[in-house]
Amino acid sequence: MARYTGPVCRLCRREGQKLYLKGDKCYIDKCPVSKRNYAPGQHGQSRKKDTEYGLQLREKQKVRRFYGIQESQMRSYFTMADRMQGITGENLLKILELRLDNVVYRMGFASSRPEARQLVKHGHFKVNGHKADIPSYILSVGDVIEVKDKSKNSPKFKELVENHKGNAVRWLEVELEEYKGRIVAEPAREDIDIPIEEHMIVELYSK
Ligand code: SF4
Repeated sequence: MARYTGPVCRLCRREGQKLYLKGDKCYIDKCPVSKRNYAPGQHGQSRKKDTEYGLQLREKQKVRRFYGIQESQMRSYFTMADRMQGITGENLLKILELRLDNVVYRMGFASSRPEARQLVKHGHFKVNGHKADIPSYILSVGDVIEVKDKSKNSPKFKELVENHKGNAVRWLEVELEEYKGRIVAEPAREDIDIPIEEHMIVELYSK
């Protein structure tokens, strides 16, 4: 299925919560979720209560939209998570957190996940000294992520570093002035701050 290219604020309104897809705009009063917290469209305000299946579907869509991934990728992440030891739902979130685009965002080198995805695709980053331009690349503990030398002097990165809002979490060690960071541990469930009931996704995919 093709990637969604429409207005991203509609996605937040559909999920009834902020997905933080637009960087700074998400933190001000202009955010459409703050102003119109109901689903978009003609019948947005009169939607019926979701069924159990509907609720499970919404949780899955929410996660997909948070991380900007497609259905086929989501399915393969679920298969990976299911084969790992531990709780499948937590494994799934862990895999998603370790995607290169998410780590770039968490480190503060992008103001949103969509922006991180674009910067990675444009080749601005290296992983362990090698060019890395695949947003879905899954990182491991010990990996070092850094902005390429050529990109460090660009106004874009200078501004990002100056206005850094501290997205970094305890499983990441960030040296902003050096434009680099390292994964020091695997993310634990309590480190993942997105409001998701992942067991519902497991139930959905296990049907
Ligand atoms: Fe738009 Fe960001 Fe608000 Fe979502 S959180 S509705 S992307 S401004």
